[in-house]
This record gives sequence, structure tokens and C-alpha cells, in this order.
Amino acid sequence: MTPRRHPLEALSLDPGLADGVPGWEQHAHSRFSDGKAEAAAVAEQAWKLGLSRLIFTEHTEPHLVSGPGWFGDYAREVRRLAAEYAGRMEILLGLEVPALDFQGGVELDEAMAAEADFVLGAVHALPGQGWLGGRSPEQAIELEHKALLGLLDNPRIDALAHPGGITHLYVTPFPMSLFDEVVRRAAERGVAIEMNPAYQDPLEPYLACCRRHGARISPGSNAHHLEGLGWAWRELSRLAVRGSSHVGEEGVVA
Ligand SMILES: [Zn+2]
Ligand SMILES: [Zn+2]
Repeated sequence: MTPRRHPLEALSLDPGLADGVPGWEQHAHSRFSDGKAEAAAVAEQAWKLGLSRLIFTEHTEPHLVSGPGWFGDYAREVRRLAAEYAGRMEILLGLEVPALDFQGGVELDEAMAAEADFVLGAVHALPGQGWLGGRSPEQAIELEHKALLGLLDNPRIDALAHPGGITHLYVTPFPMSLFDEVVRRAAERGVAIEMNPAYQDPLEPYLACCRRHGARISPGSNAHHLEGLGWAWRELSRLAVRGSSHVGEEGVVA
């Protein structure tokens, strides 16, 4: 399998946030998958917000992409935008790839794996089970947890998107003890954990868990509209300004 293209440190932050939070958006969609804006408009808005990095992370599920041959068009457009904004804002080519089984299999062909700068592993539909509808809370938790651990066995994954978030948002709260186990293993494997305020509210206990295990973090807002860009960055910046003394390892806000 194609290995990662960049070292983890280049695509993630130390969870201590001691040096502040750079203006990174590492989870954004455009019309190449199910985002509502053209990629050029996403880049323009990111620039206006003052971001220093934008990573497009289009879905690879066949029913979510924009059509046949989409990946070539996507890659060309992202590279064109990267050249246009060179020296002002870094633009990288990412993908959000769903788990297809519980052993780390994902929707990602070799051409995509070779080209992408950043691969977000995600649990969306439950492998072999379809979407969450009809799952009991216990089943949803167990299956998402198993699929997340499987993703950590895939050496092409740079970061986990919204771990536990699908169950949490659509079925039942995802237990912090299981999130903790995923984070611990992610730290061992050198995979970053996404900090995503769309799924983690409040963010503090999730960030505290990453600190406890020394897991690197990836600011990602899962922006599907221009308004969603930079949300994770703003939330993390808020926490960094309040200072690490306010967010202890247990996530207790003083
Ligand atoms: Zn997702
Ligand atoms: Zn997404």
C-alpha cells in the first residue's frame, strides 16, 4: 500500500497548543463532492478569513463525487489553486475516505493514494451494515469503534475524521472511554485525531484526551459551505488563548 506522503508533524499540531494555533482548515468540501461551493470560491473565502492553509478533503464514496473522472479534474483544480495562492496560503490535496470493513480497508484507489497529500480516514456508513438507521445504540457504538480501530491499521491514513462522531451525532453519545482507547492507539500509530466542533461540543474533553495520550491533532471543520470554514481553528484558538492551565488533563475548565 502507498505510504504517507508527508511526515505527521507537517499535517498536525501538538495538542498542547503552546505556540498558538495556526490558521489551518484541514477538512473542507467543494462541489467536487458534496460541498455547496466551487473550489475556487472555497479558496477565496479561506484567504479572506486569514487562513494560512486549506486542505480540500473530498469524499470518495462513488455516490458523493461529482461524476466520472472527477478525481483528475479535482487534482488539477487544487494544484492550479495552490499555484495561484503560492506564497500567501498553502493549499493541499486531501481526501476523506470511508472505512469499507473492520480491517482498515477504505474507498481509495492507487492513483488517489499516490496523489493525495492528506488522507482523512472516516467512519460513515457502517461497513457491511449500511447507514446507521435501525441500529441499536449499542450496535452503533460497537461497530463505529471497531471500524475506527481498523482505520488505524491502514498506513495511508494521516488523521481520523470525527472519531465517534457519526454515532454521537445521529444515534447516542459515543462513550469517552472508547474515544480514549482510539486516541491512545492513534498516538501509538502516529495518526492524528481531528478536532472538529461540528461533532465535538464542547471540544475541551476531546482535546484533553489527546493531550493525555500525546496524540497529534488536526483542525477540521467539515465545512460544506463557505460559512463553515475556519470553525475548528477559531475554537482551538479560543482554547489556546485561555491558556493550557485552564484545560487540565481531565478536560476540567477552571
Ligand atoms: Zn465525514
Ligand atoms: Zn467531511
